[in-house]
Amino acid sequence: MTDPANSLRLLRCEACQLRYLPSDSPCPRCGGRSATEYFVPAVGSVVVGTELHYPAEGWCAPHRLAFVEVADKVRLLAIVEGHLPRTGDPVSIATEGLVYRARAAPAAERGEGESPRSGSRRPSFEPPR
Ligand SMILES: [Zn+2]
Repeated sequence: MTDPANSLRLLRCEACQLRYLPSDSPCPRCGGRSATEYFVPAVGSVVVGTELHYPAEGWCAPHRLAFVEVADKVRLLAIVEGHLPRTGDPVSIATEGLVYRARAAPAAERGEGESPRSGSRRPSFEPPR
């Protein structure tokens, strides 16, 4: 497994300065092919998360996904490990090739005394704090 403290690799288009996730495709805004890579902390904030109870064959149910915003307002779709995060929750991001995995940020980064309870089943919807 990738160390959650790892950095996340992004690209900045030389022509229009758009920041985006690395791929073999040209800049998604202007089509420019010249980009500079740079690294940001592999942490983000959940924009929205969802839980699939009947995922595609080969995936375990429930299969959780989250749309996560990282540095420079770059957003990515990540497979969630552990409980379903709520909007605004901090997560750490691990990269495996083109796959991103999100996990609740450790308590120390969240500023809370709660520790992540991986492996335990928690309800999808929790009452507000
Ligand atoms: Zn561009």
